[in-house]
Amino acid sequence: MSLPPGRPKEGGVPSGGTARSAREPISPPPGRPKEGSLPLGGTARSAKDAPMCTPSEHEQTLRGAVIATALAMNARGINRGKSGNVSARLRGGDFDGFVVTPTGLAYDETRAEDIVPMTLDGESRGSRLPSSEWRFHRDIYRARPEVSAVVHTHAPFATTLACLHRGIPAFHYMVAVAGGRDIRCAPYATFGTQELSDRVLVALDGRKACLLAHHGMIAVGTSLPDALALAVEVETLAEVYWRALQIGQPEVLADAEMDVMLEKFRTYGQPRRTKD
Ligand SMILES: [Zn+2]
Repeated sequence: MSLPPGRPKEGGVPSGGTARSAREPISPPPGRPKEGSLPLGGTARSAKDAPMCTPSEHEQTLRGAVIATALAMNARGINRGKSGNVSARLRGGDFDGFVVTPTGLAYDETRAEDIVPMTLDGESRGSRLPSSEWRFHRDIYRARPEVSAVVHTHAPFATTLACLHRGIPAFHYMVAVAGGRDIRCAPYATFGTQELSDRVLVALDGRKACLLAHHGMIAVGTSLPDALALAVEVETLAEVYWRALQIGQPEVLADAEMDVMLEKFRTYGQPRRTKD
């Protein structure tokens, strides 16, 4: 796939749409007008007068999967109300970017046509404005070619720790599932700002999840189910860490042991080689 000049070159990892789970609806609701796919609107602006054009089947699938993931994060107790946001990488054809939940719309009222496509340059199209946090979604996709989905939540236990500027140390071996010896907490910055996005990228360096001070958490993955599962795991770890702190100060595992765990997680879940 050729990329426009100036764009970061990206690896050939599968996009988020290839790994949707069976529970995710993919058919767009009927009876709503389809939105245009060209031209692109300005930076974080909508382009209501764009020519009408049918989004690709792949894009429609991703839009449905993004909504299903947003609903699932609330149903699983790691987010409440309209807070948080979800995106999935969109590649192919004339569009190279991602689709993200719109700003200010309840997830159970969000339909496929409300999901906002954006380029990696931060241009949006469609009738809705993107999530106010579109900058860190865009910057993660630009910086991390292996990432195909981003889930951001205000999960209660993760946010509790983040309000104390505390990350999650290696108090439990499962911390390694986020890709490192700990889960960092990014310093506070106003939501929606480039400053917050810059801090997120630093906290996520070499990791698949981080906390955001006085705000929430982010989990990324190679697919939407992958990112959602990690967000649930991070919230579980945050809750257990919080509980442990009520009794005492938990010891942390040695770096060497966490390195063993990191190596195990790198190969965990791969199919057994068939004999003969
Ligand atoms: Zn937020």
